[in-house]
Amino acid sequence: MGKGKVKIKIDYTKCTQPTECRKCVNLCPEGVFMLFFTDKDFRNPTHYIVDAVLAQLCNYCKKCIEICPENAISLKVKKKYEKELYISR
Ligand code: SF4
Ligand code: SF4
Repeated sequence: MGKGKVKIKIDYTKCTQPTECRKCVNLCPEGVFMLFFTDKDFRNPTHYIVDAVLAQLCNYCKKCIEICPENAISLKVKKKYEKELYISR
């Protein structure tokens, strides 16, 4: 699961054109998301995905959920951080 307080999931059945969209990548104040290619054929836009590569930096501002036009991002606060993050938001 890795470090960090929030588990971030992207539904790739909804996020199908990340090279066109990139809203989460551009918006996240902590730089959590990255767009990268999944194999050597980097010229093919369908071979790209966004992922929460630096999820450990997430501050649970929820801006990515608000901006994602496909409703593809879900955030889940890890149990031991629930109090801390729910109180601060
Ligand atoms: S909740 Fe905020 S900090 Fe976390 S990934 Fe989304 S935009 Fe980035
Ligand atoms: S904002 Fe949503 S649809 Fe757009 S690239 Fe990010 S996860 Fe995919």
